[in-house]
Amino acid sequence: MTLRNTPEPLVSERRQIDTQTIQALDSAHYMHPFTDTQALAKRGARVITRGEGIYVWDSEGKKILDAMSGLWCVNIGYGRQELAQAAYLQMMELPYYNSFFNTTNVPAVKLATKLCELAPTVGDRSFTHVFFSSSGSESNDTNIRMVRHYWASLGHPERKVIIGRKNGYHGSTIGGASLGGMQGMHDQGDLPIPGIVHIDQPYFLENALQGESEHDFGLRMARQLETKILELGADKVAAFIGEPIQGAGGVIIPPTSYWPEIQRIVDAYGILLISDEVICAFGRLGAWFAYEKMGYKPDLITFAKGVTSGYIPLGGVMVGNRVSKVLIEQGGDFNHGYTYSGHPVACQVALATLDWMERAQIVERVRDDTGPYLAEKFAALKDHPLVGDARSLGLTAGLMLMKNKFTGATFPPDVGVGMACRAHCFNNGLVMRAVGDRMIIAPPLVMTRADIDDMMRLIVRCLDLTLTEARQKGWC
Ligand code: PMP
Repeated sequence: MTLRNTPEPLVSERRQIDTQTIQALDSAHYMHPFTDTQALAKRGARVITRGEGIYVWDSEGKKILDAMSGLWCVNIGYGRQELAQAAYLQMMELPYYNSFFNTTNVPAVKLATKLCELAPTVGDRSFTHVFFSSSGSESNDTNIRMVRHYWASLGHPERKVIIGRKNGYHGSTIGGASLGGMQGMHDQGDLPIPGIVHIDQPYFLENALQGESEHDFGLRMARQLETKILELGADKVAAFIGEPIQGAGGVIIPPTSYWPEIQRIVDAYGILLISDEVICAFGRLGAWFAYEKMGYKPDLITFAKGVTSGYIPLGGVMVGNRVSKVLIEQGGDFNHGYTYSGHPVACQVALATLDWMERAQIVERVRDDTGPYLAEKFAALKDHPLVGDARSLGLTAGLMLMKNKFTGATFPPDVGVGMACRAHCFNNGLVMRAVGDRMIIAPPLVMTRADIDDMMRLIVRCLDLTLTEARQKGWC
């Protein structure tokens, strides 16, 4: 092999891709996340080969509108030269250096400063520091260690328990999966780890009592936190963690009464509040950070994904003044960190992403224009015979497929109507995700009204096709 001293061209030549060969190698060697490898081998994976704007193309040349922004991350769309250029230049200048042993690097410092500037101060809570990782999961593992170290530094090592929620998602590492409340994950490998407990999720369709208003339901669900704290003893509880809107759980938007009541409770018992904004930060809800939108004051914020628009892995924890003061003044060494904490290339791409978003006024557009426009169009799906509930906030939305929307009857789980709908979406050039019978979207934040119209036409077509299939097969 010859060593090249000249850089590779920025865009490599597009090659003909032999789908079947790639699929055969895929099933022979590549174990996918959250996948039954044997079942996938029978089907053959869809090979995605390129992206531009809000579209991706597969190896057969099919154009697909990516209404999931990859996996809730390609927020400013595919093919942004500015981000590639930022990575290239940084790689040529300093591709890597660590932040251990009294060293730092310029992109990491600039990004930490920028993120603290973007996070609004609410009441006595401001954000002073950032701890970097490479993913949401690693960031939540950092949170577990950080909140326990915080309490130990204050002389309360017994305050260890973290309360999460059933059907919450906080990642796939042992810590992240334990904080989350996904039964399927807990069932594999003896999770959650000790010191993590869960309360119910604020999902009105599933958990509300007969005749209960959304407002009362939100209060009742939040008060489960108080009950749990009292059951455990407040002096044992370190923190509560929640997603502003549950993403992977099915885009579950809590009633407006929920978060303020959570705030009242964490304040009353002095426990830390962790806002997992891996999906919701950086404009998804029409605000730089979601806590601003939902009306609460977190002590720690988990972020990842949209910070680099998914172009390169980066995550982290925003550390609020209450925690940073104690850690800095009383914590001493924090024996925690990753090789890639503050990776200069990832941080430089994040700076380019945030800069691009500011120049294009993406957050304002979602807040004032495309978010409200999507809300109007998406809510109209409730008129469809299959759709029992449809709602959005910012640029994320979820709808529930129902056997009989008038009686509230759901499809039996073995029918798999969500999967059937997802297949119609793929076949018709749309990525929509199925979570059970909930169909969810989180489209790129760069969408225009015309793009939303195109997406809505595709959604309606796929719902119609799903209805036809459901009737033909006697599902409804
Ligand atoms: N927290 C939330 C709220 C998430 O949605 C996710 C991923 N979807 C994670 C954490 C985990 O992030 P990662 O996959 O980057 O580890």
